[in-house]
Amino acid sequence: MNDLKMNIREKMFREMKDKAIFNQAKDYAFDYADHAFDRNVYPAEEAIAGLDIFNEVLPDQSGQPADILKQLHHYGSPATVSQIWGRYFGFVTGGTIPTALAAKMLSDFWDQNAGLYVMSPIVSKLESVVETWLKQLFNFPDKTVAGFVSGTSMGTLCGLAAARYRILQRLGWDVNEKGLFGAPKIRIVTGKQVHSSAIKGISILGFGKDSIEWVDVDEQGRIIPEQIPALDDRTILILQAGNVCSGSFDAFDQVCDRAAQANAWVHIDGAFGLWAAGSAKLKHLTKGMEKANSWSADAHKTLNTPYDCGIVLCNDSEALVSALQASGSYLVYGDKRDGLLYTPEMSKRARIVELWATMKYLGRQGIDELVYGLHERAVQLAKGLADVGFQILNDVVFNQVLVACETDDLTDSTLKRIQESGECWCGGAEWDNRKVIRVSVCSWATTTDDIVRTIKAFKKAYAEIKKP
Ligand SMILES: *Cc1c(COP(=O)(O)O)cnc(C)c1O
Repeated sequence: MNDLKMNIREKMFREMKDKAIFNQAKDYAFDYADHAFDRNVYPAEEAIAGLDIFNEVLPDQSGQPADILKQLHHYGSPATVSQIWGRYFGFVTGGTIPTALAAKMLSDFWDQNAGLYVMSPIVSKLESVVETWLKQLFNFPDKTVAGFVSGTSMGTLCGLAAARYRILQRLGWDVNEKGLFGAPKIRIVTGKQVHSSAIKGISILGFGKDSIEWVDVDEQGRIIPEQIPALDDRTILILQAGNVCSGSFDAFDQVCDRAAQANAWVHIDGAFGLWAAGSAKLKHLTKGMEKANSWSADAHKTLNTPYDCGIVLCNDSEALVSALQASGSYLVYGDKRDGLLYTPEMSKRARIVELWATMKYLGRQGIDELVYGLHERAVQLAKGLADVGFQILNDVVFNQVLVACETDDLTDSTLKRIQESGECWCGGAEWDNRKVIRVSVCSWATTTDDIVRTIKAFKKAYAEIKKP
């Protein structure tokens, strides 16, 4: 039968059975991986101009799968930001661990819905197993539960929702039934360097940004414990493991004790920093964090799983589940883990597969090596850049390096030149009222050679800017 006579379902049956398109996709993927190392880290201008090919109206007729994949590879691949290898230092992203990627390819065929046990026993099993592994790795209380969400923004939202539920419930106010209008006021206390995603959560949950009691931070962006106001049982205190610019960690040990005495709720945003607990030499940074009530983290950052792979952890299961309540006569809860109880979404993809594969692949030792390796590369970079005359503005306690030239203008133009060079990619930020180049070392694939090459690229860019 030729294509023209086949209806769309017949076409799809054939495609599913003969596998040609999957082999084609695999070949393209491998071609991409082989070439993504040598090309510009940021797509070249021609590649971006080539995206015009995608400007078309919705086709009338069903397309040819081979053509669709070809278009994606020929025009799409060159316009990606090359971050599977080691010279992408933008934002805080992380590469992808090969075993996790391979497991994801397999689970894409499974097409599982991670909502309920009855929808996918394997996904439910992996979620239970990983929940236990995370508790052990972080040394969290046994009663801690985990929800697998898209990222830390969502994880923080869930943690704050649990806090809101519990605090109001203790005050005799069921927020699910009565809503927030007229509810007793909840205090939000956090440092002036809190991540914008926490502020987003504060806004969405109706606390109001105006109600935040801002606490001064020190020169590394850490909350100053002595400046924290008196806490009480209506307070949510938001701390962070890993300042998004400097990589610094708040003093959890001391601050969590104070919060516990006041019966305040502590949420820790540990998007990339929570994983420091997995390194013997870095875990001092996270000392005392197990005394908080809820935590959010990204596996897609420091742990290098594919996107989107975030986690919320909470030591008050009832508060988390109640806050994210789901109901419907068709829902079938069992005595096995039902993932949707711990997340805002009902349907979601089986992101746990990648997290499970990553943790099983790395093991405790591999996690330690990965996390500490990022720190070592960051230290190497900071030292190398200082040696060639750049200023390093932060203490490199983890994986973040803040770099500046003598003036803001020089910093800006040097950064622009670095980005254009294609050798590596970093973003800009402001730190302590100065423009900075923000370097985040977060891929397993970053080697000492990549760092040497990056230092050269910085030096060359600066020299070109200075040339009259
Ligand atoms: C990246 C990041 C977030 C947001 O995480 P997403 O996964 O992008 O939602 C929050 N806090 C910190 C400190 C981060 O680095």
